[in-house]
Amino acid sequence: MRPYDVLDLYELMKNQWRKPEELAEIQVKKLQKLVRHAYEEVPYYRRLFDSVKLTPSDIKDISDLTKIPITSKEQLVSLPLKEITAGGVDLDYCRVTTTSGTTGVPIKTYYRRRDFTLMNLGWARAYLAHGMKPWYRIGAFSGWPSISPKPSWYEYIGLWRRKVLSSLDSPDIWISELRKWRPQVITGYVMNLKLLAFAIQEHGDSDIRPQLIFSTSAILDDYSRKFITDVFKEKVVDIYGSNEGGCIAWECPQCNGYHVNIDMLVLEILENGKSVPPGKEGEVVITNLHSYAMPLIRYRLGDIGTLSPEVPSCGRGMPLLKEITGRIDDFIVLPSGKRISPHPFYHALRWVRGIAKWRIIQEENGILKVEVVVSKDFSYNGSSLIEANLRKIFDDKLKIEISIVAEIKQDPSQKFRSVISKVKKADLI
Ligand SMILES: [Zn+2]
Repeated sequence: MRPYDVLDLYELMKNQWRKPEELAEIQVKKLQKLVRHAYEEVPYYRRLFDSVKLTPSDIKDISDLTKIPITSKEQLVSLPLKEITAGGVDLDYCRVTTTSGTTGVPIKTYYRRRDFTLMNLGWARAYLAHGMKPWYRIGAFSGWPSISPKPSWYEYIGLWRRKVLSSLDSPDIWISELRKWRPQVITGYVMNLKLLAFAIQEHGDSDIRPQLIFSTSAILDDYSRKFITDVFKEKVVDIYGSNEGGCIAWECPQCNGYHVNIDMLVLEILENGKSVPPGKEGEVVITNLHSYAMPLIRYRLGDIGTLSPEVPSCGRGMPLLKEITGRIDDFIVLPSGKRISPHPFYHALRWVRGIAKWRIIQEENGILKVEVVVSKDFSYNGSSLIEANLRKIFDDKLKIEISIVAEIKQDPSQKFRSVISKVKKADLI
């Protein structure tokens, strides 16, 4: 963290309390700057703008954003890196992140160092809003094998100290690490937090007592939220983020919903190419206003979400997102064409005793494959119970195959997804 990072954090902290009009002004200024940069420096965007006879000066307001065609991950990865990155930015000095490629292709995103730090500060703002102090110790789950990154200088003076826990290690290892580290804050994907809570409950451990728990990058279903809260006796705060967008929106300590970081990005919820009104579901498209090395302008994230019609009661000027219902790829498609979000599946399986871990994959031919890892509490008719509960969700003639497996493998670089559908879906936008 350098002096300008401190200033950036100060600015972000101040921004959250600004009036919506002031935030809109910040947003549009940042958008105009990014669009100009992308047009001048990135061949892909130059072509994209030219294809619709648009110039950066046509973007006068946020509503003008709709003049820019939408970009998908598939479009970007099909092009050589030099086509989609900025000419004036040295990629060797960039921070690189790789996104999940569970059902599609993974994409590498490049960030200038200052942009990357600023995006991290976007996460920090959410943590601080929930009462985290900079001197708290953090236990952070990571999808990668256990590594001990070199601490930053500020960690040596007791700020933002982090211990990385690898998702690939067993819960026993996490517990022993957490006992030594005694973090006040634990952050991680829902599945990691759930497995940790499960292990703590089984062991009867009571000495791991974080004051704050943040879940990230997956859907926090009601059951998981309640289970983790019951075990840790602390509320779980959900943050919606991704490699391409950073911290996109975060649950407010006071309001119902997630404040959208509109000073750092533009979030659109679309259906058939048009913005849907708050309260209605649509596809999430973002413009990352700090994506200078590899601009992401009107980029399809592949998530389905709903904006909230509520005006924030906390006094923050950032609008509220009601919920993220799931990834488009995670919606199960019935033979009738109807889409079902992953949520009911969490509810259906919670009533079956002895399920330690599960995953549902809908194959391209529509068959629903249910994999379960079971504990000793799983009863002899457990599989029939699973089927009966799933049948409550859909009365279609969807074929279900249940198998009890020893392990469900998780790709270390990806967030764990419990429901995956490989059935091709009609585009929402
Ligand atoms: Zn609020």
